[in-house]
Amino acid sequence: MSDFIDSKKVRARKEHKCHLCSTKIEKKEFYIMHSGRWEGEWFNNRLHETCDEHIRDYLNHHEETEYTPEFVEEYLFEKYCTECPFLNEDDECELDKNIFRCDDILQKMEDE
Ligand SMILES: [Zn+2]
Repeated sequence: MSDFIDSKKVRARKEHKCHLCSTKIEKKEFYIMHSGRWEGEWFNNRLHETCDEHIRDYLNHHEETEYTPEFVEEYLFEKYCTECPFLNEDDECELDKNIFRCDDILQKMEDE
């Protein structure tokens, strides 16, 4: 159990890597910082704002306080990708998109 998590919006003074999607957070971009303690260890996780939304959606849906990128990915996949025309027969994205940064998913999130 984590002793969850302080969350705040910060402006990047340098480039960072997003904890969820592992792509770059650009310098001067606003991002979300999760700080807290997990199993006795302090952590700071930096996230794109949309990646933070993915996590919140996942946590709310499952009534959880913890996540791993793998769990969130699985959740998004079930929710969005199974209906997507670009999913091939091997359950892979034909466009080879990073699921957390997929424009179609982000668009659908905004529409919800
Ligand atoms: Zn991200």
